[in-house]
Amino acid sequence: MNLDEINEQLFNLPKVELHCHLELAFRPSTMMEWAIEDGFKIKTKEDFAREFLILEPMADLPTVLNKFLHTRDRLSSLERIERLAFEACEDMYLKSNVRLLELRYAPSFTLDVFPYLGAENLHGAIMKGCVRAETMYPMAVGLICLLQRIKSHKENMYWCDFAIEHKGEFLAVDLADNEVDYPPKQFAPMFDKAKAAGLGITIHAGEPALPGSPNNILASIDYLHADRIGHGVQAIHDEKVIRRLVDEKIPLELCPTSNWLTQAVPDLASHPLKQLMDLGIKTTVNSDDPGVMGITLMDEYQIAHKTLGMSLDELKRCNAWAAEVSFIPQKKKDHVWKE
Ligand SMILES: [Zn+2]
Repeated sequence: MNLDEINEQLFNLPKVELHCHLELAFRPSTMMEWAIEDGFKIKTKEDFAREFLILEPMADLPTVLNKFLHTRDRLSSLERIERLAFEACEDMYLKSNVRLLELRYAPSFTLDVFPYLGAENLHGAIMKGCVRAETMYPMAVGLICLLQRIKSHKENMYWCDFAIEHKGEFLAVDLADNEVDYPPKQFAPMFDKAKAAGLGITIHAGEPALPGSPNNILASIDYLHADRIGHGVQAIHDEKVIRRLVDEKIPLELCPTSNWLTQAVPDLASHPLKQLMDLGIKTTVNSDDPGVMGITLMDEYQIAHKTLGMSLDELKRCNAWAAEVSFIPQKKKDHVWKE
């Protein structure tokens, strides 16, 4: 098979995306347009990349955070937010043949700088963009409400209640940011409440290559009722963690390029996606932050196939698992996903 044929087969595979942050899933041309409107001196794609994209492993955290904030600070109107959501969905379908799409966002992240938008309006604009894409393309989209570890207990409880009030539109809740300094256990009250309300639970855990990181995977299962783990890439270094994930059939939302750019793995070739699958863990392939990292889900499939040596059949199996564990209701899945 030549390269074109392989790429065509990879594209034709109907895909599921479980782990994608809406705020960082912008279409680059649109973000560049907004940046110029907002007064950034940007003339070329290179100028834009320097201010907004992370294309090489991050050297220092402040530079990276600055790029996240540049992006976030462009989300100043409901028009922009609706367009962000619509284009994130449209690009997933057109560029990667995604049929089931879960997008996560943190209401607190955008409202911190634009409180005048209001939570209901922000959520409504995102829903509008997603529904518009669903009516145009054979895809089903669902939202996950992201709680930030760095926020107070009170604020996180507020957003947890917000997610419960919007159950149906929000399918699940997530926990993100610095997992080493904010370990899982202290967030148990929110996740007890979300679980009791029938929301799905996915937790960012086992992401950075730091001590304590693999153990956060177990703590997320034990204290936060995690149905799925965001990343969990460090599980590879801990046999006990691998055993639990296999025995309890808990899937990992793996994101190869993101793990390389954040230095969770030293290089793409040593990403343990295939090893984790070979060990019997339900692995899924995801893009995390496609806009800011300048990638598509299709790129992650090419990496999985060409760099990590996964066969088309193995990638098909990852998608079948992803479809099975997606929080999107079965009835909605059935419209766009055939086994
Ligand atoms: Zn993430």
